[in-house]
Amino acid sequence: MFFASRWFIFESVNIHFIHFIIMLIVKNLSKNFNTITAVNDLSFEVQEGKIFGLLGPNGAGKTTTIRMILNIIKPTTGEITFSGKLINENFFNMVGYLPEERGLYKKSRVVDVLIYFGRLKNLSKSHAFNEGIKWLKSLSLLEFKDKKIQELSKGNQQKVQFILSVIHNPKLLILDEPFGGLDPINQQVVKELILSFIDEGKIILLSTHYMDTAEKLCSDILLMDKGRTILKGSLSEIKQKFGGNYIRIQFKGNPELIRSIPFIKEFEQYNNYSEVQIDERVKPHEFLRLISSDLEISHFSVIEPTLDRIFIDAVKKST
Ligand code: ATP
Repeated sequence: MFFASRWFIFESVNIHFIHFIIMLIVKNLSKNFNTITAVNDLSFEVQEGKIFGLLGPNGAGKTTTIRMILNIIKPTTGEITFSGKLINENFFNMVGYLPEERGLYKKSRVVDVLIYFGRLKNLSKSHAFNEGIKWLKSLSLLEFKDKKIQELSKGNQQKVQFILSVIHNPKLLILDEPFGGLDPINQQVVKELILSFIDEGKIILLSTHYMDTAEKLCSDILLMDKGRTILKGSLSEIKQKFGGNYIRIQFKGNPELIRSIPFIKEFEQYNNYSEVQIDERVKPHEFLRLISSDLEISHFSVIEPTLDRIFIDAVKKST
């Protein structure tokens, strides 16, 4: 275990090659605010080249967790290490943060804001300027370089905010709702950028309420509620664990026939098809046999549950 998760040592006749895998490790983290336990014994690890989804309903404790990772607030108990060291002030330049609450200096020019933030992250003025221009170009914002922030549309302001989180080429990127306010084209642009960061070996912590986005981007997730972990692991394993008893069906006939079957846990009717969740103890073919004499079935397939569905079921179960 230790070997697999911390580092690999390749040994040949006389060459010792050590490749250290950089990781963010959150261990038994808790945070109390007076009587409220906002985060309760949270543990997870994120490796380079991975997108980790920190998910949960409103008030789950995601922002509090992120603020502890950023060293903005101190944990009540537990520890956070990055690249093997406890996080401290030096960590500041290695991390990029896109907050959910955006705060740009509205009256400043775009280029000045970029230079200012680059300087905060220890870049020289010319380096910050060059990086800023490069990012403005790649996000089709170059024409707005000398405009004041307040003159930009909300979506373009959002893209500037995104640039601020990456201008210093951070190793760890924490993105809180990176797609809010963006149109589908810009969402796609940002999605592709995030995926390109993975190829570069960055570590990405993504917090979002958009489950379809999390599903497309994250390899691992942690679902929390009321400060506690309710689900954790690789997305594919989680889907397998929850899968098997969801069925998509198209039929002609009375839907009440399905609804009234005792082992039906959920039944959702949409325009062109319906989705059914059956009890785990019943096999899909048994369900098909039961309904096929009374309904005219044109489609029947076992489907993977969406992350949205897993989220809702897991949160419901935990309350
Ligand atoms: P959302 O999805 O709505 O942004 P969240 O998962 O980010 O929610 P947090 O903002 O971390 O949730 O809040 C978790 C809990 O901690 C909530 O009950 C919140 O009211 C409480 N909380 C957060 N910050 C403070 C604070 N500074 N003082 C007191 N309570 C706080």
